[in-house]
Amino acid sequence: MQLFNPSAQSQLVEQAIEEKLAVLAQAFLHENLSTTDIDFEHLMERFSDSELPRAPFEFEQYFPSLAEDIVTHAVHTSSPRFIGHMTSALPYFVRPLAKLVTALNQNAVKVETAKSLSPCERQSLGRMHRLIYQYSTDFYKQHIHNHQSTLGILVSGGTVANITALWCARNNALGARGKFAGVEQEGLSAALSFYGYKGATIIGSNLMHYSFDKAADLLGIGSQNLIKIPVDDRNHIDLKLLHQAVLHCQSQRKLILAIIGIAGTTDAGGIDPLHDIASIARSAKTHFHVDAAWGDPLLFSRQHRHKLAGIEQADSVTIDGHKQMYLPMGIVMVFFRNPHLAKAIEKSASYTIRNGSLDLGKRSLEGSRPGMALFLHAALNLIGVEGYEFLIDEGLRKTQYMAERIRTMPEFELIAKPDINLLVYQYIPEPFRERATHKQLIKSDYCVISRFNERLQKVQRQVGRTFISRTVKSIRHFDQEVTIVALRAVLANPLTSETDIDAVLDDQLQIAARLEIETSLEGPVRVV
Ligand SMILES: *Cc1c(COP(=O)(O)O)cnc(C)c1O
Repeated sequence: MQLFNPSAQSQLVEQAIEEKLAVLAQAFLHENLSTTDIDFEHLMERFSDSELPRAPFEFEQYFPSLAEDIVTHAVHTSSPRFIGHMTSALPYFVRPLAKLVTALNQNAVKVETAKSLSPCERQSLGRMHRLIYQYSTDFYKQHIHNHQSTLGILVSGGTVANITALWCARNNALGARGKFAGVEQEGLSAALSFYGYKGATIIGSNLMHYSFDKAADLLGIGSQNLIKIPVDDRNHIDLKLLHQAVLHCQSQRKLILAIIGIAGTTDAGGIDPLHDIASIARSAKTHFHVDAAWGDPLLFSRQHRHKLAGIEQADSVTIDGHKQMYLPMGIVMVFFRNPHLAKAIEKSASYTIRNGSLDLGKRSLEGSRPGMALFLHAALNLIGVEGYEFLIDEGLRKTQYMAERIRTMPEFELIAKPDINLLVYQYIPEPFRERATHKQLIKSDYCVISRFNERLQKVQRQVGRTFISRTVKSIRHFDQEVTIVALRAVLANPLTSETDIDAVLDDQLQIAARLEIETSLEGPVRVV
């Protein structure tokens, strides 16, 4: 078989493969949605051969390992009963479109390899920019296809989006002036000393995504200088402490590169008071970045968009398309209020990415990248504002349902009132329930309860019928901070029904009951 030959015979082979894979994919998506209980050690063994295959296999020979080693043990991220992660089911058009994206194989780095895709990407980014900032039609006419302007950048992950936003903030804060050529050319230490700063910081709550540690590291700030402000019991940044931290940095002559607001924390969905953070950032004359990787699509909902009030004041905003926009892995956007901000990171190369062109790679951390914009473009057309509004409203409604169920069940306790569609709760083993209801738990009780929850989550994952993730939270117990392990549900999968939610909670009750019996036989809870 010829690898690249477009002959009729090769096309037949390709079709046969496509059909086989389609059957495999359909079976994966629709039959038996439990995750296999093979243990990970055994699975690793199947991938331990380090020798390169020499002679090419026929597809027929390769197929069994594809099916049995990989697909069989893949995680059912779209299963309606796997409500512990941020990866959901995909809408009907994504899988067929993925074939087209691969068939076209555009490289979005430059117009020469992405002629129609470049303006298509800019249009989709412009539309999403408008969702956040709501400028006039004229504004968008002026900027969408203006090579001087960057309304947004399409990247492969929220991590890259956050890093890109802070990179722009850094280069703008420490730009060229007089004889000084700017941080981009002279480096951070020269820039800080030119501007008279003794170091630089980034400030946000202690629930910031760990991508900010990466950003602080890469941008030369040092992750020690990523200042993490405590949150209140609703998972919102403490504004008083934020304000104090700003004053402290200023008195120490430290440059505050950016203040971060989170719109939907990864662990519990908390939304920071964006409006208040915006005023603090404004008076400190610093960049205000909103990490709305999870929460941004709430803007589609008339009922819920008020929860993000203040986001329109952000200098930059991150949105994960592969989370609540139901796009496949690898589509994330970062937006800029000022269309010229991203000029601070512009690079060009003589053989590609030309000055004055619409080449998307000139203001982007990534170089070659796939035509993922096609998914975004399609989704905005095929789902539309109304479709997204429905999806968001339903997710939040089901969260209320699950929260209500948890409140009425003596076995469970909700840890915090949810802002959006993430729920953090704990299973309370029988011997502690009485004291838990009367708020009489002591610190050592929390330890035992936490270990029990950790074990419950691990067993549930291993059994594989349903899935809930776990997180670690700090709670206030009288005047002490106590760290607890809690269960975390994410309600974003449109396929999840109330029946599925009940089934997940029932599964946890069953597993917990079994664990409680084992525990009482064995003595103290041990963590597996
Ligand atoms: C998921 C998430 C990120 C990181 O996104 P990746 O796409 O996983 O890199 C950043 N911030 C928040 C709040 C998130 O929820």
